[in-house]
Amino acid sequence: MIDLICGARPNFMKIDPVVRAVRDPSRIRLVHTGQHYDHAMSQSFFDELGLPRPDVNLGVGSASITVQTATVMQRYEESLPEPLPEMTVVVGDVNSTLACALVAVRHGIPVCHVESGLRSGDRTMPEEINRILTDQISDLMLITSPEARENLMTEGRPAQGIVMTGNPMIDTLMRLLPVAREKHPAPPGGPFGLVTLHRPSNVDEPGRLASILSSLAGLSHLRFFFPVHPRTGGNLEQWGLEVPANVLLGPPMSYLAFTSLESFAEVVITDSGGVQEETTVLGVPCVTVRPNTERPITVELGTNVLCPDPAGIPDAVARQIGRRPGSPPDIPFWDGRAGGRIASALESFMTGGSR
Ligand code: UDP
Repeated sequence: MIDLICGARPNFMKIDPVVRAVRDPSRIRLVHTGQHYDHAMSQSFFDELGLPRPDVNLGVGSASITVQTATVMQRYEESLPEPLPEMTVVVGDVNSTLACALVAVRHGIPVCHVESGLRSGDRTMPEEINRILTDQISDLMLITSPEARENLMTEGRPAQGIVMTGNPMIDTLMRLLPVAREKHPAPPGGPFGLVTLHRPSNVDEPGRLASILSSLAGLSHLRFFFPVHPRTGGNLEQWGLEVPANVLLGPPMSYLAFTSLESFAEVVITDSGGVQEETTVLGVPCVTVRPNTERPITVELGTNVLCPDPAGIPDAVARQIGRRPGSPPDIPFWDGRAGGRIASALESFMTGGSR
């Protein structure tokens, strides 16, 4: 039995290709930690991706990082079956990723980390701490891009545990984009931009969030769709920040609605990790409002540019739109077949192949 862990929005797109590729579905126990729990952040993805209903839902809900991590640990441990799983597979960099990896390692269950080795170099990001610690205790580290191998080896991780399997989030995008575009055609009304923001460094400080909004106001020739993450929405409401007329706020979008809009956008302004990757594959110009990225390949080979200062957004947007590639770049191993390679790597590890 293999435990596959998911808990928050970006996890569902990464776990789905693994669920599809494992040859014997009866060997999977799908564990949802409940880190994201409302319909728009969780169930909607199960429905649209066609993910099976989780075997277990730990129902942890919202809390501080400490309480959430501790609650996932406690509840995941209580949920462990006898005999123990042969492996715990965690994805990405959310609190559930680290929490379940820690519990597994305490019980001697081998840990596999999908999307291992990404580093922003910024230890003030909670996700960076989750990545570093998860990788330190993972037995099988499945990577999406070449620099991840160097990052892991610099941190002393053994080469034989690192396998390039590629980017499973792109499997989901490639599988569902045609459906998404058919179900949600380009919105009428001409060119538009798309905005997502949820990193604490952008949305937890009123001055910073206000200056991002004011830069969007400066781009008055474009209208922006801005599906608002619950964290951002709560803060916008609490601080009563003025939303410019060209910015259309809405609730978080379903995966099909969002990816279709992303593919038709002139430009995407974001601080999301996954959105930097998806825009790269779509060939859509992206401006990432952060001083760093754990996904440098999106800047080197893709359509992404970093914009640390909100005041720089209008210039960055103009430059990126002017540089839109004729066709999307080709990123090795971001080819829609990562799920199969992940399933093979798990199989080979469990049969002793890559130990
Ligand atoms: N996404 C979505 N609806 C939205 C915003 C994002 O379906 O309103 C998807 C997006 O296509 C990508 C994923 O959510 O697949 C990114 O998740 P998020 O930005 O929450 O997390 P991060 O990638 O930053 O960890």
